[in-house]
Amino acid sequence: MDLKAKIRNIEDFPEKGVIFRDITTLIKDPEAFEYVTDTLAERVKGQDIDMIVVLDARGFLFGSPVAYLLRKGIVPVRKKGKLPADVYHVEYQLEYGTGQLEMHKDAVKEGMRIAIFDDLLATGGTAKAACELVELAGAEVVSLNFVIELTDLGGRDALGGYDVFSLVQY
Ligand code: 5GP
Repeated sequence: MDLKAKIRNIEDFPEKGVIFRDITTLIKDPEAFEYVTDTLAERVKGQDIDMIVVLDARGFLFGSPVAYLLRKGIVPVRKKGKLPADVYHVEYQLEYGTGQLEMHKDAVKEGMRIAIFDDLLATGGTAKAACELVELAGAEVVSLNFVIELTDLGGRDALGGYDVFSLVQY
């Protein structure tokens, strides 16, 4: 399937000079959403994972249906201050300032095999922070899975050593 035809490109969002890859046009198309879900699920199926970690917020949209298909539980990684129980906390560098992500301390157990999902890989900062959270819990990141990869931003290199997969590259 031509997924690029389903992803809308918004120029100068969120700031001038940036082309935002908008996945809302993809997820409202049932065939495209099914194709993306099934393809991601097929890839992760053979990885013998215990749990799926989904990243705030668009990662929820793609990781959750895959978890349902594979009959795995879902663990959300959220932006600071959203999770109610005890959390692991990591800070990471953004273009301006820092980002902060959290995961419940009791969400994944030591030794679990984890697949992480987000909508898009850019610099890899967000995904790297998510890996740190999983590893703080003593679990193993088996794969990182994205719908879109912006190849010029070096995310794959920043995640060197991890198994990185994306469906569409720009
Ligand atoms: P990174 O941390 O790899 O630099 O950025 C990835 C994060 O930023 C992802 O969580 C993703 O949702 C968000 N993001 C950055 N640019 C875009 C974009 O053009 N489209 C979408 N859908 N998400 C983006």
